[in-house]
Amino acid sequence: MNRDNSRTDQEDISKAFEIVKHFDEAVLYEKSVKSDNYGLYFLIRERLNKYLIVTQEQQYSKNVEFSGREVETDSYSILKCELNSKNAAALRSTFDFTKPVLIGKENSYGFGDRLGNAGPAHLRAVRNTGFKPVLAQQSIRELDRTNRTAQEVMDAATWAVFQEGYTDGFGADADHLKTTDDIDRMVGAGFTMFTIDPSDYVVNDAQTMNKEKLEKAYYELPWDDLKSEPMQLMDHYSANELSLPSGTSLEPDEEDIYRGMVKYGHVLNHARKMTDYLNSTYPDHPAEFELSVDETDQPTTPFEHFLIGGELNRLGVELASLAPRFYGEFEKGIDFKGDLDQFKKEYEQHLAIAERFGGYKLSIHSGSDKFSVYNVIGSLNSGAVHVKTAGTSYLEALRTIAQAKPKLFRDILEFSLKRFEEDKKTYHISADLKKIPVPARLKYEELVYLLDDNHTRQVLHVAYGSVLSGSEPHAENFKEELMYTLQKNEKLYENNLLEHFKKHLDPFN
Ligand code: ZN
Repeated sequence: MNRDNSRTDQEDISKAFEIVKHFDEAVLYEKSVKSDNYGLYFLIRERLNKYLIVTQEQQYSKNVEFSGREVETDSYSILKCELNSKNAAALRSTFDFTKPVLIGKENSYGFGDRLGNAGPAHLRAVRNTGFKPVLAQQSIRELDRTNRTAQEVMDAATWAVFQEGYTDGFGADADHLKTTDDIDRMVGAGFTMFTIDPSDYVVNDAQTMNKEKLEKAYYELPWDDLKSEPMQLMDHYSANELSLPSGTSLEPDEEDIYRGMVKYGHVLNHARKMTDYLNSTYPDHPAEFELSVDETDQPTTPFEHFLIGGELNRLGVELASLAPRFYGEFEKGIDFKGDLDQFKKEYEQHLAIAERFGGYKLSIHSGSDKFSVYNVIGSLNSGAVHVKTAGTSYLEALRTIAQAKPKLFRDILEFSLKRFEEDKKTYHISADLKKIPVPARLKYEELVYLLDDNHTRQVLHVAYGSVLSGSEPHAENFKEELMYTLQKNEKLYENNLLEHFKKHLDPFN
């Protein structure tokens, strides 16, 4: 049932303000006010807690989906509802705009939110930029490390769009999925964008194999599953000139083709299996796909991309976006390192290849703080792009803590420093602990400057799981204190995020 007849008029807002007066120290999130044929809905903050208020003016039975405490005011009967999962589900069935949608090939920006409270600021930052927001972007790894469920992540996005009255549609990215179990988990929570991570199937050794070895491995690929034959594929990629819309052409030799297929043959197969699984198991579930080969040892060459794009096309796998491993260093939480001219040259080739095989978006993973790269992409002004950020919002939360409660920030930093050797293991970073000042020797007001130091940023970045999971000794209370302090300093946090994301989004306009 589509009940998305949401509206807001001045009368609704006045009514909401009037109702809010009945609560102690409560403020109204004005943009959240919505009404439908059954009543009025809005979000308030009472002291440090947020509540959904639902009026029960006409037919009490209509709003039974929501659960809360009944409160009588002079003229209205209302429900004061906690922001729990049941009420988030009720809200999604009441207002379509609080459910994720497919974004397709429009420019989009991914805002990972590991704390679940940055969404409203993300939406403000993205408004009027031409980018569609992708909220609820969380990988299986992030879920496990932060000890959150996929449903919690989705619910946080629902509350954020409701609070901001953001009715233009948002995507929800189930990021870095490796197995069909991962798919089940994320479909269940209502995610709509599925990022397939085939990194377990990339044969990085192909990089150093000699031609003889490559040839042997090439013939041993699962050709039945690939619905092709060794000679046929070889002919296809060597006989035809691989021209690109950009006017350049690729001229792979036999060895390039062997190497490309040996490296990515199993990836193609895995991508097809994952998309087939989702489409056949959940035929009614809206889904769009990204393939991410960003976590490989070597950059994806234009020919390798051509091979992946061409073969997926032939196998009928339709992508909304693809994340190559781009040239240069995309380390976590800091700007790009490398030759920007070279990046630009290769990016243009990747663009041309994406265009040739259906115009899918190029997806920039580890997109946090890659300002120089955004300038390049913005200046090209062609093709569609998806950018993924996550850790950078956590760092803005820590900036807020450093400003509002420096002692807590210092505790988190000292803890993160101790965790570094262990926590850095799965990340691409280059931080050097020797270059970070001893936190205890800094004055409280100096601590915040560490958020602009690349070494400190990376140390804080990789420790997020240990800080937030609640299961590490000495860190049991960090998350609670963090959330409390951010809630108390909501405006400051929001401004930090807005200012920071302006730097992420401006280069594209
Ligand atoms: Zn990635």
